[in-house]
Amino acid sequence: MTEKYDLDTLAVRAGVHRSQFHEHSEALFLTSSFVFDSAEQAAKRFSGEEAGNIYARFTNPTVTAFQERLAALEGAEFCVATASGMSAILACVMGLLSAGDHIVASRAIFGSTVQLFTNILKRFGVETTFVSPTDVREWQAACKPNTKLFFAETPSNPLTEVCDITALAEIAHRHGAWLAVDNCFCTPILQRPLELGADIVIHSATKYIDGQGRVLGGAVLGSKTLMEGVYQFLRTAGPTLSAFNAWIFLKGLETLRIRMDAHSAAALELASWLETQPFVTRVLYPGLSSHPQHALAMKQQKSGGGIVSFEVKGSKAAAWQVIDATRMLSITANLGDTKTTITHPATTTHGRLSPEQRTAAGISDGLIRIAVGLESVEDIKRDLQHGFDCLT
Ligand SMILES: *Cc1c(COP(=O)(O)O)cnc(C)c1O
Repeated sequence: MTEKYDLDTLAVRAGVHRSQFHEHSEALFLTSSFVFDSAEQAAKRFSGEEAGNIYARFTNPTVTAFQERLAALEGAEFCVATASGMSAILACVMGLLSAGDHIVASRAIFGSTVQLFTNILKRFGVETTFVSPTDVREWQAACKPNTKLFFAETPSNPLTEVCDITALAEIAHRHGAWLAVDNCFCTPILQRPLELGADIVIHSATKYIDGQGRVLGGAVLGSKTLMEGVYQFLRTAGPTLSAFNAWIFLKGLETLRIRMDAHSAAALELASWLETQPFVTRVLYPGLSSHPQHALAMKQQKSGGGIVSFEVKGSKAAAWQVIDATRMLSITANLGDTKTTITHPATTTHGRLSPEQRTAAGISDGLIRIAVGLESVEDIKRDLQHGFDCLT
């Protein structure tokens, strides 16, 4: 699209390439390969002399449409779609780093990302230093001559700690490193890391971009030059996004702004209500003025997002009682769904950490995480009230 359009328009119109049938809604191209007009054309496609589809591990029109639409929303030159959020992170590091390189990463990142960096990348000679998500001096102090990548996730899961994207970008660039931001919790609707100075944006499209908990997928976004390395890894190694999942995400992007605004508004209302509950000792939500980084969050995010965490008096037994007393909320670790989910991080998503590691990460046994869906917020409160009533 050549004219400058608003995000709401790009979410619906970017990446539209109609086929010979002039379909109105985006077509789903279920084909693993593409046919050439001649042997000469096949040769030109393979040599790169002529642009066009060859094989679905490389490109597929439905996947391309999703990539173009998400790139338009993030304000990125290029997007590489992947089979999952984790394969987006894998493609990013495999495409851009080499043995001997060093990563500085926030301690508060997705559990599998920690495992990937510590257990897998380390075997290939890439070392990671984990630092505080909120203290930029630790990032500065962790830099080495071979530091190539800063990796942050903001707000973090489940404590909703906020990284200062602009400050981290500045430190990374001073040390000749790139800043990658996992923008899964905010999506481009609430936060655009590239505009704040980041070089790379990562998504688990599985969450809000799908928005209805159906399929897995991911994406890496950034400049054409950086994404070339990521794409070359992907087309060779193969964790490519399937066309069907791309089609789900393409349609998901059309309603993303409306959903994110609704998730955020309901989460703020729920968080404010939780703050008044006698058995709740702490509420963690970037949209609350009580959040330690409320001002920073409101500077770089449009609103607080859909994730609210809180601690109950009485530790694990009380947290489990609250969770088990709910009748409607889904007890599951997924997030970004229309259906509200409730999770006990200490025994699920963060259960593989030792008690000491959990304490260091600030994840107490009384902590509960809610990913607020699109049900009536009054019904969500009533459901949690069943749990609080058990504690009296
Ligand atoms: C879920 C998640 C991932 C991993 O995504 P998958 O699609 O499950 O592979 C990465 N980062 C964050 C913040 C997530 O929530």
